[in-house]
Amino acid sequence: MPVSGLPPYDDGNIFARILRGEIPSRKVHEDEHALAFHDIAPQAPVHVLVIPKGSYVSVADFSAKASPEEVAGFWRAVGLVARQLGLEDQGFRVLTNMGSDAGQEVPHFHVHIFGGKPLGPMLA
Ligand code: 5GP
Repeated sequence: MPVSGLPPYDDGNIFARILRGEIPSRKVHEDEHALAFHDIAPQAPVHVLVIPKGSYVSVADFSAKASPEEVAGFWRAVGLVARQLGLEDQGFRVLTNMGSDAGQEVPHFHVHIFGGKPLGPMLA
């Protein structure tokens, strides 16, 4: 059983295909460790996804298996993207869903960055 409780990594998932350039995306940032692109169905004026380049199904998988360099590089990219999108002054939200109870649709670890308006309280 993988650490996340999700099925093992499947490199046919949609974000793996975006990483390989098989499916287009509106790219915001790319570096050695991460790719950021606009969500196809935005839920806020700014809604960007940041994904690691490595093959991790979830945040639990990433936390358990990624190297310190990958973890640092990924979170550095999240900060860079927020700054690049001009979200730092007004604030923004970073969220990840893990597993079916949280509604994770794509089994490649990703965080959502939401911003561009007052976001209100978190929903449980
Ligand atoms: P999850 O529910 O797994 O946390 O979020 C998956 C997100 O991926 C959703 O917000 C969904 O709109 C987005 N998404 C799904 N397919 C695609 C796609 O092909 N391109 C892009 N840019 N976003 C996608």
